[in-house]
Amino acid sequence: MRVIAIDGPAGSGKSTVARTLAARLALDYLDSGAMYRSVTFATLRRGIDPADADKVAAVARDIEMEIAGEVTVDGVDATREIRGPEVSKAVSTVAANPDVRVEMVRRQREWVAEHGGGVIEGRDIGTVVFPQAELKVYLTASEGERARRRQQQVDDLTYDDAAANIALRDRVDSTRATSPLAVADDAVVIDTTGRTVDDVVDEIVGRLA
Ligand code: C5P
Repeated sequence: MRVIAIDGPAGSGKSTVARTLAARLALDYLDSGAMYRSVTFATLRRGIDPADADKVAAVARDIEMEIAGEVTVDGVDATREIRGPEVSKAVSTVAANPDVRVEMVRRQREWVAEHGGGVIEGRDIGTVVFPQAELKVYLTASEGERARRRQQQVDDLTYDDAAANIALRDRVDSTRATSPLAVADDAVVIDTTGRTVDDVVDEIVGRLA
């Protein structure tokens, strides 16, 4: 079973690279960030405070989510809203909740078993979720490029707002107690600044046996 882990901060190019890599290798692709965003979406929709750990953990265990290009949460299309400012602001608080992480990791491993492997992108895929992955990649990019990419992904987002949200999530994601964003010891680190997707994917494919 082939499992390839792609980790890195927001705007490092994970989604595009992981999706392209999966297509090249005929593997399925999972965006684990969309799962944390879906829990956050459901939390806000139910009027629950994202910092209310017990209630948010119950939401994580309770919700039905479908992540396959389009994102559906409890039967509601959340594709656009999970990328919007409210979810982006609260998601790192939700993702720092250890009980939420236990449930998401369980679902990610179940997904991989059902799909016979895959390319999975996130923050802790190589370090925690699939430490035995065939290849672990950690993507980075300059702060300016990461903010520009993020701005282009979301309608009406200013550069300054994109940069501020990325800075907030970098800080919370890398300092949380449970599974912080970190480079796995055996990860290949690739700086994607100024590089094309195909160039980065070629490098990753070249690292595979
Ligand atoms: O990948 P994306 O930027 O959409 O992820 C949104 C948020 O979800 C991250 O800022 C992080 O707080 C959380 N996340 C995580 N672990 C993952 C994937 C995402 O904590 N494996």
